Amino acid sequence: MSAQIIFGKQISDSIREELRMEADRLKAEGVTPGLVVIIVGEDPASQVYVRNKAKACEDLGYYSEVVRLPADTTQEALLALIGEYNGNGAVHGILVQLPLPKHIEEKAIIDAIAVEKDVDGFHPESVGNLMIGDDALLPCTPSGVIELLKRTGNSPAGKHAVVIGRSNIVGKPVAMLLLRENATVTICHSRTPNIEEMARQADILVVGVGVPKLVKKEWVKPGAVVIDVGVNRLPDGKLCGDVDYDDVVETAGWITPVPGGVGPMTITMLMANTLTSAKRSKK
Ligand code: NAP
Repeated sequence: MSAQIIFGKQISDSIREELRMEADRLKAEGVTPGLVVIIVGEDPASQVYVRNKAKACEDLGYYSEVVRLPADTTQEALLALIGEYNGNGAVHGILVQLPLPKHIEEKAIIDAIAVEKDVDGFHPESVGNLMIGDDALLPCTPSGVIELLKRTGNSPAGKHAVVIGRSNIVGKPVAMLLLRENATVTICHSRTPNIEEMARQADILVVGVGVPKLVKKEWVKPGAVVIDVGVNRLPDGKLCGDVDYDDVVETAGWITPVPGGVGPMTITMLMANTLTSAKRSKK
């Protein structure tokens, strides 16, 4: 039997509807959620992401600013700008679009963002809060993965989740969130022997490696939930995931397509973080 498809766009749309209602309530109480996105340089993919983030804000009635800086902006100038937004009460979320030009140290920039406005969830304190189970703003793609699972009735509690990939932005935070949701978690990476066998033990298999169509049906336990975070551009220009969808779809119980699975959740969770930060600013 073919897997049930997890349509991220539909789930994302329904979350955005909930966010719109909550934002309206908050605005009625005098607080308009606000997000500033800062982009340095002209990277075309980053320009698209930034436009999409601003549009999502507009659609939800948030206050939105986009600051476009030239590629030769100094680190000091960028730090000074972040300092200004840290103190700007109309802005509840600060997002610096990555990657930055090579002369700017990304870590110094991320560290400079006030932790309560760290809507990307990349600040070391946010990462630490996630680790110890405190109230952190969660990184957007990983928390989108958890929402996809919960909203399709695939609660991670009591399940064996295998995460392939251990990056700071995908694998590690996904694994921590699954653990927080009471899954038993195994993390695999490029040095894991018998990775296929490991993956086959998963009730929930989350893949974020950046290798097109790495995961085949032999890696998947029949009926497992397969979440593909990968986004890869093939030579013919088409997008594909890290999972060989056509091969796996008959074995998995549930599967995310690429595009249209995890992808649409990322900006939605950014909007959710901005709202959370705005709500907290009221207290
Ligand atoms: P990354 O920083 O390059 O990390 C890749 C991870 O995969 C590493 O931990 C690496 O292991 C592991 N890996 C690589 N090849 C492997 C293999 N053959 N077998 C097992 N593990 C392997 O990548 P990332 O930033 O996490 O991104 C991963 C994918 O997610 C990419 O396709 C990216 O485009 C996508 N992504 C999507 C979204 C979204 O919104 N949908 C957001 C972020 C990223 P080592 O640590 O041992 O090197």
